[in-house]
Amino acid sequence: MKILKGSCLCGQVKIEVPDRFEYIGSCHCSECRKFSGAANATAGGIDGALLNMISGGESLSIYRKSENTELAFCRHCGSSLFSRKRDSGLCNLRLGILDDAPTQQPTFHIFVASKAPWEDICDDLPRFDGLPPTR
Ligand SMILES: [Zn+2]
Ligand SMILES: [Zn+2]
Repeated sequence: MKILKGSCLCGQVKIEVPDRFEYIGSCHCSECRKFSGAANATAGGIDGALLNMISGGESLSIYRKSENTELAFCRHCGSSLFSRKRDSGLCNLRLGILDDAPTQQPTFHIFVASKAPWEDICDDLPRFDGLPPTR
């Protein structure tokens, strides 16, 4: 299994994940826009147990966004790193922190109904107003 490396902007946080995401997609919701500072956040779903902290664990800050969702970012440089579900351990790794290219490509857009009015989605991937029906 190929391993992908990732890091934050300042380089203190380094992680590794197997090159096998449960899915890769872009979320256009207002919370992902705020957290990422971008028009949308492309994330890969992965079991949190497979997310290996190589260094910088002490630099992680956790913001508890909701009852079940935590957001992790680097407290030195502010890079948004991943979200984590407290019940299932599912992580959505922000793919922008990867230093290696994953084999998989993004396959969908979610929360398109709440995307920024100035954003144009320029591909033909499936779009969902909110979460996909199966997820
Ligand atoms: Zn950092
Ligand atoms: Zn979102």
